[in-house]
Amino acid sequence: MKEICLMGGTFDPVHFGHLVVAEEVRQRFHLDKVVFIPAGKPPHKTDKVILDAQHRVNMIRLAIASNPYFEISTIEVERRGLSYTVDTIEQLRRSFQVESIYFITGADAILEILTWKDVERLLSMAYLIAATRPGYDLNNLEETLKSLPTPFMKRILPLEVPALAISSSDIRKRVREGKSIKYLLPESVEGYIYHNNIYVAK
Ligand code: ATP
Ligand code: MG
Repeated sequence: MKEICLMGGTFDPVHFGHLVVAEEVRQRFHLDKVVFIPAGKPPHKTDKVILDAQHRVNMIRLAIASNPYFEISTIEVERRGLSYTVDTIEQLRRSFQVESIYFITGADAILEILTWKDVERLLSMAYLIAATRPGYDLNNLEETLKSLPTPFMKRILPLEVPALAISSSDIRKRVREGKSIKYLLPESVEGYIYHNNIYVAK
C-alpha cells in the first residue's frame, strides 16, 4: 500500500518554492510519490486570468523530469467547470489505491481551506500538511488549530520547510518588467517561458 502526497496549485508558473516544499514533505513523511495537480479553474481564483492549462502542464513536466518521485495529474485541468480539492482527492484515492493521502498547502491557506466545500469529508480522506512560508509565524497557525474540533486538528500537520520567498506572481511580474527570473525556477522552465513568449505584456 502506498502513501502519496498531492500538491495542488495554479503553478502559473511552477517554481523552486513548490519543488523544494514537495521534496521536503516527501522525505519527511517517507512518501512514495508526490503528485502535482495543476488547477483547472480554481473556485477561489475565478476573478484572475490564468495561463492556458497546457502551458502550465508543460512547465510542470519540465520541472519534475529529474525527480523519479514526482508525477503530474491532469485530472483537474481535464475536468469541466470548477474543481474542488475534495473531489480530486476522492478520485485520486480510488485510482491510485493508496493507504494514506497527504495534501500540501501553504500554512497561510489553511484558514481559507477551512471555508471550503466539504472540509470534513476532505479531512476524513487526507492529511493536510501546512507548509510554512518565509516570514510566517507558526504561532498563528497553532492558535487557529486550537480552535478546531480535535478530529480536525489531528489531521492538520504543520511543517516548517526551507521554503524560499519565491512566488509565481513575482515571477510573472519580473517577466513583464523584463527582469531576470534566473535561480527562481528550473532553467528548463525559464527557457520554456521565453521560447513561448509567456507573461510578457501583450
Ligand atoms: P501566486 O503568486 O500566483 O499566488 P504561488 O507562488 O503562491 O502563486 P500557487 O500555485 O498558488 O503558487 O501555490 C501552490 C501551493 O504552493 C500553495 O499551497 C502555496 O501556498 C504553496 N507555495 C507557493 N510558493 C511557495 C513557497 N515559496 N514556499 C512554500 N510554499 C509555497
Ligand atoms: Mg498563491
